[in-house]
Amino acid sequence: MHFHVITLFKEVCEAYTNASVLGRAQKTEKGKGAKHRGKKIEVKYYNLRDFAKNKHHKVDDRPYGGGPGMVMYAEPILLAWEKAVGRKKDQKKVKTLIMSPRGKKFDTAMAKKLAEKYDHLVLISGRYEGIDSRVKKILKAEEISVGDYVLTGGELPALAIIDSVSRQVPGVLGTFESLEEERVSSGEMYTRPEVLEYKKKKYKVPPVFLSGNHKEIENRKLSQ
Ligand code: SAH
Repeated sequence: MHFHVITLFKEVCEAYTNASVLGRAQKTEKGKGAKHRGKKIEVKYYNLRDFAKNKHHKVDDRPYGGGPGMVMYAEPILLAWEKAVGRKKDQKKVKTLIMSPRGKKFDTAMAKKLAEKYDHLVLISGRYEGIDSRVKKILKAEEISVGDYVLTGGELPALAIIDSVSRQVPGVLGTFESLEEERVSSGEMYTRPEVLEYKKKKYKVPPVFLSGNHKEIENRKLSQ
C-alpha cells in the first residue's frame, strides 16, 4: 500500500509514520536465513509549498463571497497530486481522500475496504478554512472526517487513516495483534508486578488472570 500525503507540515507527520510498527512496515527486513521480508507500506510526503508557483510560495487566499479565514489554492494541490499518482496507469487502484470535518465518518470497515481495494491512497490535508472546492470535483475525491470535532489541520486525520489502514495490510501486524479487531477484547489487562504498590496502597492483579484458566479469563472479559 502506497500512501501519498499532501500537506504543508510534513515534518510533524514523518516522526509518527517513521516510528514503531509503521516505521518497520516501511523497511525491508532481513529475516532468518535467506528469507527477506519486503516493504508492506510506503509513505511519501508532498510539501505543498514546493508546488506553489507564485513568488512567495503562497498557498492560500481570501475566500470569494467573503467570510472568515483563508482558503487553500487548488493549483498547488493538483500539481502535487499529479506528481504523486498522475502517471499511474491503473487509476482504479488510486483513491483520493480530502480531510474534512464535514466528510464521511471514518471507521474500521472503511479502513478494511480501502486496504483491500486500492494500491495508492492520496491524503490531502487541509489547513485554515479548508480547500478550494474544485479540487474535490477535479480529482473525484471523497471527503473523510475522523470524528465530530474540528482540528486545526488535516495532518492528524491523515495519520489516523494511514495507521488504521496499515493495520489491515497483511504482514504489518504480527499474527497475534492482527486478531485484535476480530476477538472479544474487554480492555482489562495487567502486566508485572503482580502487586503494585502506589502511595502505600497495594493493587493486586485479579486472581483469575493468574489462574492460567483460559476459559475463565475469557468469561471474565466477556462479562466486562
Ligand atoms: N471552518 C472550517 C475548519 C477547517 S479545519 C470548516 O468548518 O471546515 C482545517 C482543516 O483541518 C480542514 O481543511 C481539514 O483538512 C482538517 N480537519 C479538521 N477537523 C477534521 C476532522 N474532524 N476530520 C478530518 N479533517 C479535519
